[in-house]
Amino acid sequence: MTGSAPLTVDDFANFGAGIPIPVSIRRLEQIDLAVARMEDGCRQLLLAARSDEALSGFAGEGRELGAGRRGLVASLDAANLDRLRSVAPELRPVVPPKEGASFGGGCRMNGTATRGHAQALARTPGIHGVYAQQSVRENTRIGRTARSVHDDTLANLLEVGFTGTFTADADHNKTIEDAATYHAAGYTLFTCDPGDHVDDRADTATATELEELLDDVPWPGLEITRGDYLRSYEQKVTLPALDGAQELNISAEDARRAVVKYGRAIAHAASMYRHVAGLAGAGAFAFEASVDETENPTSPAEHYIFASLLKHLGVELWSLAPRFVGRFEKGIDFVGNVDQFRTDFALQAAVAHLFGYKVSIHSGSDKLSVYPLIAEQTRCDVHVKTAGTSYLIALETVALEAPDLFREVFEFGYGLWEEARATYHVSAEPAAVPPREGMRDEELRLLLWQRDARQILHVAFGHILREFSDRLWPVLRAHERVHDDLMLAHIYRHVRPFA
Ligand SMILES: [Zn+2]
Repeated sequence: MTGSAPLTVDDFANFGAGIPIPVSIRRLEQIDLAVARMEDGCRQLLLAARSDEALSGFAGEGRELGAGRRGLVASLDAANLDRLRSVAPELRPVVPPKEGASFGGGCRMNGTATRGHAQALARTPGIHGVYAQQSVRENTRIGRTARSVHDDTLANLLEVGFTGTFTADADHNKTIEDAATYHAAGYTLFTCDPGDHVDDRADTATATELEELLDDVPWPGLEITRGDYLRSYEQKVTLPALDGAQELNISAEDARRAVVKYGRAIAHAASMYRHVAGLAGAGAFAFEASVDETENPTSPAEHYIFASLLKHLGVELWSLAPRFVGRFEKGIDFVGNVDQFRTDFALQAAVAHLFGYKVSIHSGSDKLSVYPLIAEQTRCDVHVKTAGTSYLIALETVALEAPDLFREVFEFGYGLWEEARATYHVSAEPAAVPPREGMRDEELRLLLWQRDARQILHVAFGHILREFSDRLWPVLRAHERVHDDLMLAHIYRHVRPFA
């Protein structure tokens, strides 16, 4: 609305539709906007413009504001958010920058965690935020869609007055159909998880078995013959490691095992990449390959071959998530030998550096002890993904503000442990969880910081959110400040090492 004074809180209060949130007030090209909090805790959009035309396409209730201005009270629904993205392209997710650190904050609580994520990143300039980040698996578990996650993210970013750029990550896409769905919902980062096509038999096969397995490698899909591959991939590679060049020796056996293990996965990733490129157009998306959820670690030689064959197939990676040595369990710090991790990680980071993409750290929640070495070895060209830790912060808010509900949630999750643990790499022992009888309300939050209890709550997230969300959301809304502050402080600890 060039030429006129921006609307103030008082102007928006005159809409008579809830209390405008001061930080949410912003000026778009032709529209002044605020998010208002209603008495029942819901949010609405308040829009003002100089012409009906600028407000066309939004559904809502009109207001005469005087001085030639028109107003509209609009719900924060999918159609209005879509219209907003079309009149204000700066609200659309962007392709993430190639260089520097980025942080992925998955939110399983209707976008409420995004508020604290954005506030934490506002304190660490230079770190790019990936706020809508959800896998198909997570969405199925909690009854959300690529679209609803994207909408919830934008609604919360508007509410906290976020003005930067952000990316939306179609996480752990397993099929081409998954990627197409996320593309239609506006996502700009595509994380391809070809894990179902990884052949772990490669790790233990004998030499004879390996020869047979080599016959099953989809050579045409890799656009190389078996002979050419075996001739060219047994080699010495010089890696640009942090403390000087480092040699990576790939033996004939390494080359055989790597292509048996990952050949099919590489061909699958390349076909997903080409499909997304066809939909989005060159340069309009970023692509990650993730094999972090496979049975065995990815060796540096395997990582090199994986990346090299993808490059040969024309895939331009933004990032790659290997499966590291040691254990990246959900919701707790790194488990394993840190020195061994450091040695291995230095090579993984050097391979990524050689090809010019970022290492992506999945299950990044709470891996605080290894963040400094990750930051150092990657020179902060790194992507860190988290999700579970934010859900646990939400539960901590509930433990503080609604202790009885928290007790119920905890016992429910505890009862599900045996079933839930089957799908994750986790090691919690229910017997190690302190008894809850006699525990005072003020002590409940400590359960969130007891390793076993924390992990039990973590892996049950799908069941817990399906069963309790109707009762959890109002607590998070009513105690938004507490929730936002806990989130900000905790996520700040995650991003600070990369700033
Ligand atoms: Zn992952």
